[in-house]
Parts: sequence; structure tokens; C-alpha cells
Amino acid sequence: MSASLDRGINAFKEQIDAPVAAFFSSCVRCGLCAEACLFYTETRCPTYTPIHKLEPLRRVWQQEYTFWGRYAKAFGLSKPVTDEELGKWETLVYDSCTMCGRCSMVCPVGNDITYMIRKMREGMAAAGHAPEGLIGATKRAVTIGSPMGVKLPALQAQIRHAEEETGLSIPVDVEGADYMLLLSSMEIMNFPEFIGAIAKIFDKANVSWTISSEAFEATNSGIQIGVSEIAAELVQRVVDAAEKLKVKNVISPECGHAYMAIRWEGPNLVGKPFSFKVVHILELLDDLREEGRLKTTGKETQRLTYHDPCQISRRGGVVKQPRNLLNMIAEDFVEMPETGTMNWCCGAGGGVSSNERADDLRLKVFNRKKKQLDAVRPDAIVSACSNCRIHLEDGLEEYGMEIPVLGLTETIAEHLAEDKS
Ligand code: SF4
Ligand code: SF4
Repeated sequence: MSASLDRGINAFKEQIDAPVAAFFSSCVRCGLCAEACLFYTETRCPTYTPIHKLEPLRRVWQQEYTFWGRYAKAFGLSKPVTDEELGKWETLVYDSCTMCGRCSMVCPVGNDITYMIRKMREGMAAAGHAPEGLIGATKRAVTIGSPMGVKLPALQAQIRHAEEETGLSIPVDVEGADYMLLLSSMEIMNFPEFIGAIAKIFDKANVSWTISSEAFEATNSGIQIGVSEIAAELVQRVVDAAEKLKVKNVISPECGHAYMAIRWEGPNLVGKPFSFKVVHILELLDDLREEGRLKTTGKETQRLTYHDPCQISRRGGVVKQPRNLLNMIAEDFVEMPETGTMNWCCGAGGGVSSNERADDLRLKVFNRKKKQLDAVRPDAIVSACSNCRIHLEDGLEEYGMEIPVLGLTETIAEHLAEDKS
């Protein structure tokens, strides 16, 4: 056995905890998870059945942790997992899974397949079977601090632009602020207007906030590729900055998996509770609305729909907040079929967008989003994840659909009332 395969199999063994063992032993092979996965529904290719994507991990569980599996292994009656097999599974585990969590919602015996995919990626990465694009993004996140290689001067330039545009000063490294805002590299480079929108909203709502010059990146490639040590290191940078600035809260921005990483996996990764609270920007905006500190004026007359980012809605529980906010400013808000916690993924999450090899597949499975959109024919789509926004734009272009894609925070900022709270 090669050293990398050995590392991978050992990583699989370490990842098989009680939930994974329970999930494998309770799977009744009903195949219902297939119909929940856009990679299966849009291709009808049986290898994209969610539980099948976990087959090497299942075999390691069976051979190492079940009586009959051990017996079969000892007498050479079961095939060991090979490097070649892991090589074949690489595209199933990374290219055809966005870790969207939809399959986990439908399993009749409650198997969290997405949790297992996350575990399986740990073994795949250890065995040297992770996609090039994701390896590059992860290396940049560790060495530069951003998967896209965005450094502090680039952020400072965008902050200066936002200050010129809004006439407001954007706080950086302010000790004792109530909130520390994280940003994703995609926001900084592709949607820098998000920074100005936040500045305008927080100014009106009188929110005490800051950005840290030492840890402004929200995304976590360690989670996407499946290397917990790196994921923990990236979370620790945020923890260190938040503790240094003595902030009470950290804001996860309009990025789906960033929220999952810092809010739900973060404390487990660093092995202790945070000294601050993590809130998603939409949770905070909705709280401000409820307190009467976020006031808007006028309504969008065009027909708007909302694309729920999987990690924010289904996996993160932030479902009603964006709707409360949209109802403040939308005259004609329409829900797509199968929305909220059962929304269909855009097809680019979970590191798929960093993996060029998966480009054709992610555009093919965008057909699912097209079907949802065709049912309601919106004039514009609103979302709250910069990765979703970029892929929605790509997918719409691919399918010749001319529908603008808007960020929710920026759209709210455009309707801010004049009076301050
Ligand atoms: S839906 Fe659940 S029980 Fe059915 S095949 Fe998938 S994982 Fe197994
Ligand atoms: S998490 Fe989403 S993309 Fe991955 S297998 Fe399940 S339904 Fe498919």
C-alpha cells in the first residue's frame, strides 16, 4: 500500500464516528436520496446517487468496524479499497457534490449524507485525491490569507472607494466594537458595493462595528477540501482577531459556506467555545428591522424571487429573515417552487466553483435552477451568497436567460430611509 493511500485509509478510519457508523448500518438502499440531488436529477447518471458517492468510506467502515466485514477481510473475501478506486471517486466526492444537504433532508432513516461527504473528503485529501483548483485555493488561504489571493492592500483600496462613494468612514481595527465584519474574497473583488451598503445601513442603525486588518476573510477552504487542521487554523485566525479587538460579535457575510464554517463547525474545530457570538448578516439586519433600527422607504416594483443559499437556509436555519427583509422592500415577491429549506442548490457550492474540472457539470445541473425560475418568471433574483450570485450569473448566461442577480444587503441599502435610529 502506498504511503498516501495508507494515510487516506487511516483518515477514513479516524473519521468513522458513531453517527457515520449508524448512518451506514441503517441505510436501506431505497435510493430516495438520488431524487433529491441535482447531479442525479439533471443527468440521470446512477453514479451520482448521494449514498453511492460514499462507497469507499462504507467499505472501510464495513471491513474495519463490523464483525462480518472483518471476517471477510481476514479471509480475503472482500476487496480492499485501492488508490485507483479513490482516484475514480475523486470526481464523485468533489465535482458532483456541493454539500448542499438536500439529500440529508429526504432520507427516510435520517442519514446525514452531507456529514459523511464532509468526512469522506478528509480521507480523500489525505490520500492525495483532491482537485487541483481546491488545493491551490487552500494553499493561498493558508499562505496569503485568502483563497483568491486577496491581500490587505486590495481590501484597503475597496474600502477607500466605498468611503468616497458613501461619504462615510469605514472603521478598521477599532477595539471594543460591538461587531467585527468578515468578508469573502469574492465580495471584496466582485461585489465591493457590499462594503458601502453595510457602512450605510450601520450608520443609519447606529451599529458599532469594525473590520480587522488581520482577519477579514470569511471563507474556509479547509472545510471544502476536507483538511480539518487547515480549517481549524483559518477559524483560529478569526478567533484571535476577534479576541484582540475585544468584539462582542462576529458577522458572517453574504457567503454560504463561510457561515457554516465559522458558526456551526468553528468552535468544534478550535476545540473551545468562542468568546463572542457569530451572527449572519441577514440575522443582524432582521434583528435591526425588528428593533425599528432598520427603516426603508419605497418598494421594488419588479417581480423578485429569492435563491436560498444552501448553507445559510437549509444547513444554517436563516430562512425567515431574508423573507422578512424582502417583504420590507418588494411589492411583488414570489417564491420559487421547492424553496426555503428544500431549495435546489445553484450547483457551485462546497468547493465546486474552485474546481475548473467541474465547470461543464455545474453548468449542466444549473438546469434545475432554470426549471425553478421558469415556474415563476422573475424580473430579478435576490440572493445572499457571493458564490451563488456568480454561479447564478454564469448559469443564466449559459441558458440564455436575461435575469439580473442582486445581493440582498445591497438591495436593502438602496431603500434606506433618511432618518437615523
Ligand atoms: S435515502 Fe437514506 S436509506 Fe435511502 S439510499 Fe439514500 S442514504 Fe440510504
Ligand atoms: S449534499 Fe447535495 S450535491 Fe451532495 S450528494 Fe447530497 S444532494 Fe447531492
